[in-house]
Amino acid sequence: MFTNILLLTSIIVCILTLVNCDRNNVVCNRAVPYDYLTLALQWPSGVCIGRKDGCIKTNDTFLIHGLWPTYKNGSWPDNCCYQRQFDDKNVRDVESRLKEVWKTLFTTGSDKSFWTHEWKKHGTCASFFDPFKGQSNYFVETLRLYDQADIRKWLSDKNIKAQPIESNSGSYSQSQYHSAIESHTGKKIRLECRRVPRKFSSQPVLSGIHLCYDPRDLKYIDCPIQDDRDCGSNIRFLGAK
Ligand code: AMP
Repeated sequence: MFTNILLLTSIIVCILTLVNCDRNNVVCNRAVPYDYLTLALQWPSGVCIGRKDGCIKTNDTFLIHGLWPTYKNGSWPDNCCYQRQFDDKNVRDVESRLKEVWKTLFTTGSDKSFWTHEWKKHGTCASFFDPFKGQSNYFVETLRLYDQADIRKWLSDKNIKAQPIESNSGSYSQSQYHSAIESHTGKKIRLECRRVPRKFSSQPVLSGIHLCYDPRDLKYIDCPIQDDRDCGSNIRFLGAK
């Protein structure tokens, strides 16, 4: 009888913990181990060129797309805890920084809806490793990793500079991008490009960069997926008008 009561109490406590996990900011029970973290950065001019539904105007600076728990084969866990809602109270201390570097590019969305999406899909899965326990930590640690990687400067130091589309210049080889960045990280990165109509560019344009980390110590690792998505041997680095 006593054992049954104990069992029933444990079940009720478990259910209550799950239901409350958004409010209490506790670690989600469904957190799963993953192999590495991908910091996905976007280059606004490359993401926005030729987009029909338009982008919010922004400076030439790399922006955060997200920090994604990832498996070695390139797939990823997602939506690991449906109960945990994004609550902007948890990011109040860093909100102004998020608005600068993790902002929406698209006129159809808001910063908050973008953070909510990234949190639900990826952030809820990150908490298996200590630095990412709690919603606030996920955003703070992502900003910290972002701040360590001054990619625009690293490129510019090697004379890789974004040029406005009219200038018809600003094309660099795939290996130039790699070596400019990898000379700082010591590890392989992944490029992302877009192929756009010829009237914009006959070469693929740089739209993003992925940096990869070991979630145990947050040191750079070689990105396991090295396909440089949609890039070619020469890549345009477009600047804002
Ligand atoms: P993910 O699901 O994390 O791979 O991100 C893809 C989703 O994020 C898509 O719905 C995109 O429309 C959205 N997205 C990507 N970049 C941005 C951005 N800068 N601002 C707002 N939404 C974005």
